[in-house]
Amino acid sequence: MFIGHYAVGFVLKKKSTDIPLWLLFVSVQFVDILAFLFVLLGIEKITYNPSTNPFLRTTLEYVPYSHSLFPNALLSLVVFVIFWKFKSKEWGITLSVGVFSHLFIDTLVHAGDMPFFHDSLKVGVGLWHFPWVSYLLELSVFFLSGYYLLKNYKKMKRHVVLIVLLSAGFSAMFFAPEGKVSSEVASITSLSLYAIFALLAYWSEHEIRH
Ligand SMILES: [Zn+2]
Repeated sequence: MFIGHYAVGFVLKKKSTDIPLWLLFVSVQFVDILAFLFVLLGIEKITYNPSTNPFLRTTLEYVPYSHSLFPNALLSLVVFVIFWKFKSKEWGITLSVGVFSHLFIDTLVHAGDMPFFHDSLKVGVGLWHFPWVSYLLELSVFFLSGYYLLKNYKKMKRHVVLIVLLSAGFSAMFFAPEGKVSSEVASITSLSLYAIFALLAYWSEHEIRH
């Protein structure tokens, strides 16, 4: 998923109001951030091929370190210990749940290219085989979680802008014409988008009061 991961960030934010939204945004996409860095370093491989289905243009060819179960469990544990030690148990639990949630959501949508164990036992429920269902479901989950967060919320205007911009970005991806993209360009684009989304989340929580 794309913005669907941020839905988890919104729900976690409602529960743990002290944790900045930008950090929750980074936590839910941390697995992909690692994957794209690994692709740029030549450690993992993701390819992009033309397809009429926008979701099936991306194939995880070799992602044993970022997208398989055991490294993810270990990563979540490390995140838990670090934040538990330096902030609080609540921060540790919330942020490790954020990191670990990525794998479960990806497994729902990916079409059998998620490695369960290292590079083997590829799984994926394959919701992406149904592009319109996937698109509308992801958008609905994102809007609903945004509504859940903002209900009775003190700051709002910038959060609404954040939600609109993220859904516009996701829709742009969905309606983009098919084409061949190099792994490097796609990785840099994705990493830049994640950085922009995290910056927007930071901005959304720093509304100037008049
Ligand atoms: Zn992913």
